[in-house]
Amino acid sequence: MWYMNENRELIRDSAREFAQKELAPVALEMDASEDFPLAQFKRAGELGFLGITMPQEYGGMGADYTTLAIVYEEIAKVAPTLCVGMGAHSILAGELIMLLGSDELKRKYLAPAATGEKILACAQTEGVGAMNHEEWSCRAVEDGDDFIINGTKIFCSNLKVADAYVVLCVTSDHVDPVTKQGISAIIVDADTPGLFCGDYEQKLGWHGSASGTLSFVDCRVPKTNLVGPLGGGLIGLMTSATNEFMTCGPIGLGMAEACYDAAYEYALSRVQKGKSLYDNYQVVRHMFVDMWGQIEAMRALVYSVFSEKDEGKLCLAKGRLMKIQGATVAEYVARQAIQIFGGLGVVNEMGIERFWRDAKVMAIGGASLEALRDDIARMIAGGMQDK
Ligand SMILES: Cc1cc2nc3c(=O)[nH]c(=O)nc-3n(C[C@H](O)[C@H](O)[C@H](O)COP(=O)(O)OP(=O)(O)OC[C@H]3O[C@@H](n4cnc5c(N)ncnc54)[C@H](O)[C@@H]3O)c2cc1C
Repeated sequence: MWYMNENRELIRDSAREFAQKELAPVALEMDASEDFPLAQFKRAGELGFLGITMPQEYGGMGADYTTLAIVYEEIAKVAPTLCVGMGAHSILAGELIMLLGSDELKRKYLAPAATGEKILACAQTEGVGAMNHEEWSCRAVEDGDDFIINGTKIFCSNLKVADAYVVLCVTSDHVDPVTKQGISAIIVDADTPGLFCGDYEQKLGWHGSASGTLSFVDCRVPKTNLVGPLGGGLIGLMTSATNEFMTCGPIGLGMAEACYDAAYEYALSRVQKGKSLYDNYQVVRHMFVDMWGQIEAMRALVYSVFSEKDEGKLCLAKGRLMKIQGATVAEYVARQAIQIFGGLGVVNEMGIERFWRDAKVMAIGGASLEALRDDIARMIAGGMQDK
């Protein structure tokens, strides 16, 4: 592949070995439970996969985004849910700290996060909507050297396992709908009095993303935990969220490849009237051609956008496009694979239908595809699509 080099191949092999040897035997078990896959997450940390793009100075691998994509693709072939926890930790929360945090905060939170010693989460979504920033009500009020936080966040991934939450709080009377000023990112340690975690949501897919409600009642946090400027947290989140949307490209690609490979093996081995499913039916063969075409188009998109990212582009629109395409291609290939497996396709233990459920959730969790399309439409109108 044009995007591979010796170093990336080494890391790809390490991720593949981790996925195939350590995740594959427990992947169905991970899907059957809403529990966070703590042991596998910690192991990913030992292998360096939680700090791929984090600077070496803070314990990270200091690698590029293409390397990150390669690792996520390999892990998603087996356990997409683990990628969700990794993304919330390393990218949504971690990159926000990396981008805006003080050196002190980076040493305290980023360095242990890079190795998995500390787990991070990012809480932004509220009952009024994930993107409806102007109506958020979780508020941090200044009180001497502290903030006092009151309010509720929902659907926070890595809930209860996180050692620290990056919480997006309203810190102004008015949240500007254009500049997004008025919302601050504040780190709250999990053991801070006044922080309460609800039960995990029982969901269609992304089992083990450990998502649920986080409440704050007079929760006192030192002002030194402010990440970036007061009122300027959402701008940082937009960058880290874009990078998280981008990971849905390689995640969707890995999921689609896994479904394609499993369906192909099944179509060759399922024999009726002396011929395999593949040889029996042209319609089945054409399904493979169409799936293959979507997968190869996805691969080309993923690695060209990640190489643009490595050149320093923000990829605001293309990053969002990757989540749209990643979720769409994964859902399509998983759906076709289920069809090829026939009755067995809907049986949990075959391990195929879970990819469809995860793809469906990927089209909403983090940001709905519709909201992302809306964002891209605005960027196109503003000439921002190539930035
Ligand atoms: C499993 C899971 C994990 C999650 N993890 C986290 C997390 O770690 N941290 C966190 O803060 N949040 C998290 N979320 C929340 C997630 O980001 C939101 O659920 C998602 O962005 C959709 O927002 P909403 O639920 O508020 O839906 P709403 O905003 O109510 O939207 C409902 C529907 O309306 C349409 N819509 C909404 N806005 C627009 C728009 N601007 N343009 C066009 N159509 C639109 C879409 O079809 C959308 O699906 C998670 C969600 C899930 C399901």
